[in-house]
Amino acid sequence: MTSADIVILGGGSGGYACALRASQLGLSVILIEADKLGGTCLHRGCIPTKALLHAAEVADSTRESASFGVQATLQGIDMPKVNSYRDGVVGRLYKGLQGLVKSRNVTYVHGWGTLTSATTVEVDGTTYTGKNIVLATGSYARTLPGLDIGGRIMTSDQALDLDYVPKKVIVLGGGVIGVEFASVWRSFGTEVHIVEGLPHLVPAEDEAISKAFERAYRKRGISFSTGVRFASATQDDQGVTVTLEDGSTHTADLLLVAVGRGPSTSNLGFDQVGVAMERGWVSVNERLHTNVPGVFAVGDITPGLQLAHRGFQHGIFVAEEIGGLDPRVIDDINIPRVTYSEPEVGSVGMTEAQAREHYGQDKIHMYEYNLGGNGKSQILGTTGFIKTVAVVDGPVVGIHMIGARIGEQIGEAQLIVNWEAYPEDLAPLVHAHPTQNEAMGEAHLALAGKPLHAHA
Ligand SMILES: Cc1cc2nc3c(=O)[nH]c(=O)nc-3n(C[C@H](O)[C@H](O)[C@H](O)COP(=O)(O)OP(=O)(O)OC[C@H]3O[C@@H](n4cnc5c(N)ncnc54)[C@H](O)[C@@H]3O)c2cc1C
Repeated sequence: MTSADIVILGGGSGGYACALRASQLGLSVILIEADKLGGTCLHRGCIPTKALLHAAEVADSTRESASFGVQATLQGIDMPKVNSYRDGVVGRLYKGLQGLVKSRNVTYVHGWGTLTSATTVEVDGTTYTGKNIVLATGSYARTLPGLDIGGRIMTSDQALDLDYVPKKVIVLGGGVIGVEFASVWRSFGTEVHIVEGLPHLVPAEDEAISKAFERAYRKRGISFSTGVRFASATQDDQGVTVTLEDGSTHTADLLLVAVGRGPSTSNLGFDQVGVAMERGWVSVNERLHTNVPGVFAVGDITPGLQLAHRGFQHGIFVAEEIGGLDPRVIDDINIPRVTYSEPEVGSVGMTEAQAREHYGQDKIHMYEYNLGGNGKSQILGTTGFIKTVAVVDGPVVGIHMIGARIGEQIGEAQLIVNWEAYPEDLAPLVHAHPTQNEAMGEAHLALAGKPLHAHA
């Protein structure tokens, strides 16, 4: 088949979700992927990193086992074995996804596609025509001017493939990807130093979270420099030396560059076809239409949060938009965000500062429920809190959490914020004991004026 209702360029989270939903709606779909179905998330992002983090948790549990009365000794990390466990996880999901796409009658084309008009994509000399085109070509790991990737200087792509545990690493960038790798390496015994140009680690989070995160990292022995920018790096047989703008230098075996991801949009014909872009990002309206009628863009190539589940949501949205279902727009601010590390961070909606700015200083109230009062968190030996931010006499507009495994609570948090629930709506609902989820209930009980395991 070379013509269809939809031709999708890119088979990552955004592209394949669009393909699956469109075929469910009875639309014919051609999905073009140059590398592997599943894209960054499945092969170089979400899944392999979370497998490493799970191995890291096992290492930490072994190291700390004596405090639970369990006798075990951590003898070392066998990186090739860790990697084969990780590859097993990725491989099973990859196989499942391939089967799913096949079962939905999506025409899958393996090859490098170029947009040649508002209705056509060319792959190896064959033209595929779509009544609609969906651009879903994703993103790549960026670096800084003058900082070449190679040898001891790497991005997450190469870091994922290491078959040994480095002794010392410098991580450039204290955002989600940087702190995730820092966490894994620290658990595996690496000495880690993070450099972040902004004033805090995880700088996009509510400041209370960023500060608690920094305390937790300091306690884990992860050092960091914040509010100072990278100046230069050199490498030789011995290691890599990084100089910062304040003149300080740091040396290590490796430098991980985790300074963000850029849109994969150059040399794909987008310019020639007249697709409007800004600094490489494809410009879209809130319904994900580009300026070219019939051409849509989803996922990481659009400005905003770079998250797999945002890609899924974009893909489903565009399929339904094309299918005439008038789907609901979800603003980026209400997309749940999790920073996977030890400790984890989960957040959705506005930070306290954003809410006060938006609604007025005295129109916001908030409660910080300390996990110290939560039975399951005590059992796990974790500290942290759930901070809920609400409009006075109004709905909850933001939830921010930190603690071991706390990312799992993001499901209810996003439901509360997206459903525009009031603390009083939440207070009568029952949360099972003893779970960390109880802390979500407790935070809203307190905000509704009837705290249980908390001081008023
Ligand atoms: C280390 C790391 C960890 C991450 N962890 C998380 C996480 O825990 N949770 C989360 O939500 N997000 C995470 N992300 C982000 C997540 O991976 C991305 O947001 C998501 O993959 C974006 O989906 P996408 O479809 O826009 O792009 P991609 O997944 O990048 O897919 C784009 C696809 O298009 C293909 N392509 C590009 N150009 C062409 C062409 N010309 N022809 C044919 N095919 C083409 C590519 O091969 C690729 O497969 C992580 C990312 C990284 C790097």
